[in-house]
Amino acid sequence: MTSVEQIKSRLNIADVVQGYVKLQKAGVNFKANCPFHQEKTPSFFVSPARESWHCFGCSRGGDMFSFVMEIEGVGFLDSLKILGLKAGVEITPLDRKDKGEKEHLHELMDSAKKFFEARLKEDSRVIDYLKSRGVTGETAKKFGIGFAPLGWRNLHDFLKLKNYSGLEMEKAGLTIKSSGPQGSGYYDRFRNRIMFPITNSSGLTVGFSGRIVPWDAEAEKAGKYINSPQTVLFDKSKLLYGFDKAKTEMRKQDMCVLVEGQMDVVMSHQAGIENTVAVSGTALTHEQLNLIKRLTQNIVMAFDKDAAGIGAASRGIELAFENGFDIKIALVPLGKDPADTIKEDASKWKEAVLGAVHAIDFYLSVYQDRKSIEKNVLPYIAALPSEIEKSRWIKKVADKLEASEEAVWEEIKKIKKNSGSRAQAAGGRNIPTESHPKKTRRNLLMDRLKGFIIWQDKTEDKELKELFDKAKNDFNFKEEDFKESLALEAELLYSGSESLLTEAQAIIKEIEKDGIKEKLEETAKKIKKIELQKSDGEKEELNRLIGDFQTLMKKLNQL
Ligand SMILES: [Zn+2]
Repeated sequence: MTSVEQIKSRLNIADVVQGYVKLQKAGVNFKANCPFHQEKTPSFFVSPARESWHCFGCSRGGDMFSFVMEIEGVGFLDSLKILGLKAGVEITPLDRKDKGEKEHLHELMDSAKKFFEARLKEDSRVIDYLKSRGVTGETAKKFGIGFAPLGWRNLHDFLKLKNYSGLEMEKAGLTIKSSGPQGSGYYDRFRNRIMFPITNSSGLTVGFSGRIVPWDAEAEKAGKYINSPQTVLFDKSKLLYGFDKAKTEMRKQDMCVLVEGQMDVVMSHQAGIENTVAVSGTALTHEQLNLIKRLTQNIVMAFDKDAAGIGAASRGIELAFENGFDIKIALVPLGKDPADTIKEDASKWKEAVLGAVHAIDFYLSVYQDRKSIEKNVLPYIAALPSEIEKSRWIKKVADKLEASEEAVWEEIKKIKKNSGSRAQAAGGRNIPTESHPKKTRRNLLMDRLKGFIIWQDKTEDKELKELFDKAKNDFNFKEEDFKESLALEAELLYSGSESLLTEAQAIIKEIEKDGIKEKLEETAKKIKKIELQKSDGEKEELNRLIGDFQTLMKKLNQL
């Protein structure tokens, strides 16, 4: 038996789901309000017999592994680990030595976090400072905020007593090696700093960000904040501060609120906006966008309206647009960050998030003249992957500048020609499409059809059998496409139907319609391109495409 089979034989899918969602009995199945989209009546079903789950609201579904992947926001290997632990099935690590070291360092980091937390409790000055910033005790506990006292070897000596070596502490980024005339030794990296643990997506501490206490003017020269260096555990370009605490709400709200500082995250959660995360002292990266993309395609960024802030975020916005995100801007009062705003009046921050405007609308309100719009707004439009989205914004820009849409299209084309995609030129690459959480409608319908075929695998109906064979052939289905977990949706949808044949035919018709619509969109794109070039030599090609378009329209209407 493989690990997957072993785990499936030992665990009941209803128990696994029940660990995250309260289930109600519904005949032989269970139902619940879907954890992946917001709803008031249950459309999320779990079938122990089929070992699968399906939601009719958001069309997600699969087996226990895909459920854990979705709800924990992790990849397949991690879902295997999580369920393996639950089932008591040992998952052989890919590299034993590597894993051993990591686990050891995780324990070390956890000890350090507890050490800092205990020191915070002893120091009333630091507690008073946090209170003055508006942080409650409960919030400090939730985020594991601590304190690294003044001194060179406080943490070092504590960890030494726990039998960790200086080398291990250095590997974890907690100490720095010194070599002076008296010989070499290790000293604490974080001294006299308020400590914010940085966790990975499963909530394990992998690094720290330390903020200098405000009364230590001398140390401020080393930087108001210092972060852990890159270690085996810590790579700040792949982490988002607060992600493990925000992921459930991010998925539920279908939105991620992105801020700049740790204090902004802490205060935003305290104000009830628990889908808030921050980048830790980096520009937004592909890896970070990938983390978000598993849960939502919608990002709200906080800005005050000063030019520096707007400029600094622009790279990240362009990258996010390129990767299919929808970006909105929440405006906070000038010169304030979200943390200050919340301390003064939490409702102001909530209003800002709820009233966030689309980033391109925002930029169109900031920039007025043609030159600055061309320079600052058009690159974002050029970065949008959808032609339909693009044309929507181009129309807006054309209206604002009182120019023709064609002229704006021309400018957009220049941007693409000049720099390719600017983010790509800067060393970026596209997020692989398999991490895309939203399947196309066509793919969803294909899955439904596959599920139907598995469900009625042993049908005696000759016509139905023929239809299945034809569909398998027409759509190029392969044996491995037929996953048992797909059958649940069909069973729940069609088990009471009068004619299964009619139902199956209807699904196939919808798939064909969608295929034609895709072709129509492609043809329309090509026509638009040729029309913009306005070259006479392309006349024939243009006529051919228009002919294709009309034929496709006719086909669509006949279906
Ligand atoms: Zn759902």
